[in-house]
Amino acid sequence: MGKYSSKINKIRTFALSLIFIGFFVMYGGIFFRNSPIVMTVFMLLGLLFIIASTIVYFWIGMLSTKTVQVVCPGCGKTTKVLGRVDICMYCNEPLTLDASLEGKEFSESYNRK
Ligand SMILES: [Zn+2]
Repeated sequence: MGKYSSKINKIRTFALSLIFIGFFVMYGGIFFRNSPIVMTVFMLLGLLFIIASTIVYFWIGMLSTKTVQVVCPGCGKTTKVLGRVDICMYCNEPLTLDASLEGKEFSESYNRK
C-alpha cells in the first residue's frame, strides 16, 4: 500500500521537481559562460521548465475545484478525493466514493474506464 500516494500530492511533487529541474538546467548554463549562445539556450530551457511547473500548479488549482472533501475514517482529518478512488493525504488510507468498491483492495485501476 505504501507505494500509493494522493493524486494531488503526486502532481504537486511533479510540479516541484519541474522547478528543481529548471533551476538545475539554468545552473548548468553557468558552466558554458564562455559561449553565450549555449548559456542562453540553457537559461531558456530552465525557464521553460519553470513555466511548465507554473502551468502544472495552475492545473492543480483547477483539479482542486473538482475534488470532493471527505473526512478520512483512518485519521479523522479532512482530505480531498479525486476520482473514484484516492488516498488520504495524511495517513495514506485508501478512500472511495463508490460504495460498490468499499472494502475492496485499493487499486488505481478503478479510476480507469
Ligand atoms: Zn487519513
